[in-house]
Amino acid sequence: MKKQRLDSLFEAISIIAEGAYVYLCDMSTNISRWSKTAVDYFAMPSEYIENAGAVWAEKVHPDDRENYSRNIEAIFSGEESNHDMQYRALSADGTYTVCTCRGVVIRDNDGNPEYFGGIIRNNGAFSYIDTVTGMRSLYGYLDDIKGLFTRRESALILMIGLTSFSDINDVYGYKFGNRVLQTLARRIRKLFSERGSIYRMDGTRFAVITHNTTAGEAEQLYNQLREGIRKDFIVDDEKVSLSLNGGAIRADRFDIAWETFYSCLRYAYHESKHHKFGSFVVFEDIVEADNRKIIERVNVIRSCIAEDCRGFYLCYQPIVDSETERLKGMEALVRWKNDEYGIVPPDVFIPVLEQDSIFPELGYWILKQAMLDGRKFLDINPNLVINVNLSYAQLEKEGFVKEIFRIIDETRFPVDHLCLEITERCRLLDTAMLKEMFSVFREHGIRIAVDDFGTGFASLGFLRSIPVDVVKIDRAFVKDIRKNVADRNSVKFISELADSFSADVCAEGIENADIRDCLKEYKIGSLQGYLYSRPVTAEQMIEKLISE
Ligand code: C2E
Ligand code: CA
Ligand code: CA
Repeated sequence: MKKQRLDSLFEAISIIAEGAYVYLCDMSTNISRWSKTAVDYFAMPSEYIENAGAVWAEKVHPDDRENYSRNIEAIFSGEESNHDMQYRALSADGTYTVCTCRGVVIRDNDGNPEYFGGIIRNNGAFSYIDTVTGMRSLYGYLDDIKGLFTRRESALILMIGLTSFSDINDVYGYKFGNRVLQTLARRIRKLFSERGSIYRMDGTRFAVITHNTTAGEAEQLYNQLREGIRKDFIVDDEKVSLSLNGGAIRADRFDIAWETFYSCLRYAYHESKHHKFGSFVVFEDIVEADNRKIIERVNVIRSCIAEDCRGFYLCYQPIVDSETERLKGMEALVRWKNDEYGIVPPDVFIPVLEQDSIFPELGYWILKQAMLDGRKFLDINPNLVINVNLSYAQLEKEGFVKEIFRIIDETRFPVDHLCLEITERCRLLDTAMLKEMFSVFREHGIRIAVDDFGTGFASLGFLRSIPVDVVKIDRAFVKDIRKNVADRNSVKFISELADSFSADVCAEGIENADIRDCLKEYKIGSLQGYLYSRPVTAEQMIEKLISE
């Protein structure tokens, strides 16, 4: 009976412990229960411990022990009912780690002490505190978000960060960079500390979780911060110019995974950074249709990725030789289908999910499926090249190169018939890493294409630093080419540029014969567009190949 009550109270505290260890002592029997994670981490005898105060005191660093024991005695004698202290504790591996320990005495109806319980935060294990700014860290953030969802509390979540901070580190050095972050952190704290909790996420991004702020108010505060930084931001007598980005999302539905909200928040932040010159972007405002439906749909799609990519399939769009107009390859394009939502095109879910930790799983599924289908296509026409799109987030993932070669081995796909399409956005990644990765691919005969060329910021620089085999000219330059001189000049420039780097050019979005004829003037080797074919399923592609 007593044990049952101890356990149920223990479970209740665990729900709100947000990743910290929980301990709970029945003061009448002096038996406590401790979190399994604490038992393992500190090599405690078991989850149920008799006279845990003394057992734990043994773990506390000798210099901190007296303080600790004095407080525990005061609690058990009834003098004190709060426990809030920091000390070092000995972990299983023999090192000391700093712990923050909080506890309270729970009294029975007559006011007699009944339980003593609380939480211990292991500041060493995951570092919930960021050492540069003193704010809660990414771990703290993730924990708090989970807690919010368990407690079903709605909130507005903000993400605020800097553009091209690495320039500051490069020019002024790392220590100065840290002082810049500290100064920024102080400004954020000043504006938002009354509004909720503030976090330093990875690198130069901060987050705020607030319960009492509307999206409109958040935008105002953000603009205030931005304006203040623009006017004067001085560190060590040096005026620093920073550009800020900001995004937000309202998390108010608990039937949706918190990870989905996190992905949507990062998407809003990226929109601010890459398309809105740092203006505040609220997720709700950038999705056209009903926002709740969109989040719901993203949530379902996300969970389908986790279920072996249920509902996903690939379509293939032909790529033809510009001279003969004969099929020379095809591009794999992903779709998702489900009874409730119908066929969902990739622009709806890829931009939102590509930074989700689950995305690489879909990426690998796409690669494998494209190679399996591709082998069937190659059986009919052995000269084809199969293009597969990659998100830059996939490239970043450790072990990516290895995994590609594993899939190639598994599917026995002939490597020299594979072309990987990447967008210019991958220039956000480390150039040295990209160069190395692409040279490994190219040594094996895998081609690399830059997709949507000309729409990014650094096209010329990109081609100069990273060798590619194919440059794909974005549809935006092609669709009005008959009427628009500037577009014609762009196409001319891009095709000559690509040629000077010995890359083949593929023009996308050839919707009619007019566009095709107009492009004849330029050095363009391949064409792709509705004029030749819309994307078709693998089965339809096989029929097409057989009838050719
Ligand atoms: P993208 O890589 O630029 O793909 C070309 C898109 O243009 C496709 O849209 C295709 O259906 C469409 N298209 C082709 N010809 C024409 C035309 O003549 N006129 C018009 N108006 N459109 C044409 P889709 O399939 O909706 O894909 C959209 C984007 O989603 C892709 O743009 C790509 O960025 C992304 N995506 C698609 N599949 C994948 C994938 O497997 N992985 C990744 N990472 N991204 C993908
Ligand atoms: Ca593409
Ligand atoms: Ca494209």
